[in-house]
Amino acid sequence: MTSSFFAPHKDIIKHTMANADVTLEPKHDILSAGTEVTFLDTGVIKFEPNTACDTSLVISCAVHGNETAPIEIISKIIDDLLAEDQKSGQRVLFILGNPWSMIEADRFVDVNMNRLFCGDWQGYDVSLKEVKRAAKLEAYVANFFAEEPVTVTQRMHYDCHTAIRDSAREKFAVYPYVPNRTLPESQKAFLARADIQTVLLQQKEANTFSSFTSLKYNAESFTLELGKVKPFGQNDLKQFVGIDYALRELIAGEALPAKAKKAVDSFVVCHEIDKTSDAWEFFIEDSAANFAGYPKGFTVWKDGEESYQVENEEEYVVFPNPKVPVGQRAGLMLKKLATD
Ligand SMILES: [Zn+2]
Repeated sequence: MTSSFFAPHKDIIKHTMANADVTLEPKHDILSAGTEVTFLDTGVIKFEPNTACDTSLVISCAVHGNETAPIEIISKIIDDLLAEDQKSGQRVLFILGNPWSMIEADRFVDVNMNRLFCGDWQGYDVSLKEVKRAAKLEAYVANFFAEEPVTVTQRMHYDCHTAIRDSAREKFAVYPYVPNRTLPESQKAFLARADIQTVLLQQKEANTFSSFTSLKYNAESFTLELGKVKPFGQNDLKQFVGIDYALRELIAGEALPAKAKKAVDSFVVCHEIDKTSDAWEFFIEDSAANFAGYPKGFTVWKDGEESYQVENEEEYVVFPNPKVPVGQRAGLMLKKLATD
């Protein structure tokens, strides 16, 4: 059975792009196994099994619309759930975040949506599509958690991205900062299952989608960087089987393993690189990959008398961008935490 949810479009990707500016009526259906499916808005669909479940799972992608591999994977999971080829064992809210940037095949149209959460959209022009959308996504997530059955004891959110820049560690996760919490072993096990062996532990509250669900709703949330940006249809989905499998296991209702089967290395920020003036010089090459390592003593930047030299045995750069305006952050230096 193919579902009529997205007809006449082939799948949620085509449907989302065709309906970016259309106000759609919510749609509701019950699959033969009893799973309730609710289509809430363009690119937003919810599955609720009729069996007792213990997890609320938010799976999002396309917050940056050109990051297509996870969108393709998630679209296929949705198809399989609708066709009942994928077991529905937990309640799941799927979100394709930014329809307009999917159409434009760009990271964003007016404003980077992944800086608009935790209510920060209120500081922007609310007539902008992405600003309005961020506000709506916050409301859908809030309702999804508010409507939980009493059997639910845990919340998780995986916000799936791909990166523009090469990475010395191809896949990595960002674990948002929430005061007084540590990364649970079971989530490390999920990351290892998804072939993600690197996690950056944030030490400051942020305004990303995953920060929103972890800070406001106490979810175990991650921003997942799963590989390189490619246009729709040009992804080698074999490189993404780990995340596909790990998500499908969770959706089916299988418990996370207690311990990771592969090492997951943790990194923390040891220095924030700020572009301090027009005379500021940056010594990391433009082509540097995320997680490229630099030895102790290496000069990262210099501005007159001020400079920063690598202080630890080795430090690693992420998100280097010396082209930012003066006063903004031009990258982060990380240090690796001792493995346990
Ligand atoms: Zn992204």
